[in-house]
Amino acid sequence: MKIVRVDSRVDDITYGAVEPEGIRLHLGSPFIAWEPTETVVTWDQARLLAPVIPTKVIAVGRNYEEHAAELDNPVPEEPAIFLKPPTSVIGPLQAIRYPEESSNVHHEAELAVVIGKVAKEVKMEDASQYVLGYTAANDVTARDLQKSDVQWTRGKGFDTFCPLGPAIDTDLDPLEGLQVTCRVNGELRQSGSTGDMIFGVAELIEYVSRIMTLLPGDVILTGTPSGVGPIEVGDRVEVEIEGIGVLMNPVVARSRGGTK
Ligand code: ZN
Repeated sequence: MKIVRVDSRVDDITYGAVEPEGIRLHLGSPFIAWEPTETVVTWDQARLLAPVIPTKVIAVGRNYEEHAAELDNPVPEEPAIFLKPPTSVIGPLQAIRYPEESSNVHHEAELAVVIGKVAKEVKMEDASQYVLGYTAANDVTARDLQKSDVQWTRGKGFDTFCPLGPAIDTDLDPLEGLQVTCRVNGELRQSGSTGDMIFGVAELIEYVSRIMTLLPGDVILTGTPSGVGPIEVGDRVEVEIEGIGVLMNPVVARSRGGTK
């Protein structure tokens, strides 16, 4: 099943499941009281939103060997995690706002894990029970600020620096090797396979849930393959994950006092 969150012009309900003729709106949420309604809206009637509103986004740095190497970093012995604020999340087609503080903003195409239920001290072998599904993410990064600051909070945390979407797919298995692709203005920049992650999804859930309780809707970004590079104002950035779809976001300038 593919789950989307939409602003539909025919109903207040925001969650739906993709069907051949459109999006069937559902009551509740995929986390509780999930129930189909009689209403199916067409794609023209619905604007896609970020598929979840996480309480936190946990991201993993250097989880692909070739990406660690391209930035001259060693492969970590345990997952290198950091947080992105929930306010960095945007949905498909929403603009990434290029901050004035940076002159080197990069795209990072990543598979995102959406947590389905409260997860605390989960063992690797049980981890799949806590996954609702997978979506695509762009871990947008101000590379110059990431390098100059001790913490990555500023470089990774600007508003709009976490596009998610377009849908949550509940049937995929990243161990089978899903293609992760990034294109900028149609030009291929990144191409990797989730089968090449150093720490797999189950290991990441065990590791992270020992540190912090994961809540329904929380998101883990699983790291980016090699090929990261700059984006500029006016660009169109696409992250595609095999089986999930394409997450496209334009890049615009962020002016002081500007809103999302
Ligand atoms: Zn990343």
